[in-house]
Amino acid sequence: VIEIEKMSKFYGAFQVLHDIDLQVRRGERIVICGPSGSGKSTLIRCLNRLEEHQEGRIVIDGVELTSDLKNIDKVRSEIGMCFQHFNLFPHLTILENCTLAPMLARQTPREEAEATAMRFLEKVKIPDQAGKYPGQLSGGQQQRVAIARALCMKPRIMLFDEPTSALDPEMIKEVLDTMVELAEEGMTMLCVTHEMGFAQAVANRVIFMDQGRIVEENGPSAFFNNPQNERTQAFLSQII
Ligand code: ATP
Ligand code: MG
Repeated sequence: VIEIEKMSKFYGAFQVLHDIDLQVRRGERIVICGPSGSGKSTLIRCLNRLEEHQEGRIVIDGVELTSDLKNIDKVRSEIGMCFQHFNLFPHLTILENCTLAPMLARQTPREEAEATAMRFLEKVKIPDQAGKYPGQLSGGQQQRVAIARALCMKPRIMLFDEPTSALDPEMIKEVLDTMVELAEEGMTMLCVTHEMGFAQAVANRVIFMDQGRIVEENGPSAFFNNPQNERTQAFLSQII
């Protein structure tokens, strides 16, 4: 469902991604890890065209990402995204955060959008918070709202960029539990995370990036128990 071929990206003269090749099948769950500055966020952001790549191809569900705005809209409508900082609208209630995009971008009638939003807020176990504002929720609750909000657009692929790294330890688990549940339902997921327990539990493949390149890719047990590349070994010895 995602095909990346020889993709490179530059910021001015600086090459941030080098010849990325990655194929993701429907229902697969990929965990991406690597040191700070290795290009993980940039790779994720290229997939919904928050960043533009300069070389190679990115094809999502048969649609190639080019400067064609129609293609960009089509791809974005299939992809949900969840960031480290939850990026909720502070002046809107939780329910309004979840209904805004479906109503504006999809012309979904309010009643239907609200019913869908409540369904996903129940799924992430905070339906009782629907009338509150983001500032009144804990970090873990806000992140679960962000996941529910993304799901309200009925994406076929979910991208996560360090969704738990801004959270206190006791809130990390509730967000990871939500992500595990999504994985079990068959959602196609690409997750940048250093939560290795999560990677072991749900990833089909773990990808290690360094200096803009994919330097190692393997199933989770081989990746963690028998890393091949010395940079992977050095990285894992620091974080585990
Ligand atoms: P982290 O683990 O710290 O989030 P990352 O792997 O997500 O790191 P990126 O944010 O993708 O790394 O950044 C990759 C490289 O690109 C870094 O060297 C960064 O400084 C550079 N970079 C990122 N965004 C820009 C930008 N808008 N303009 C120029 N350089 C950038
Ligand atoms: Mg990042």
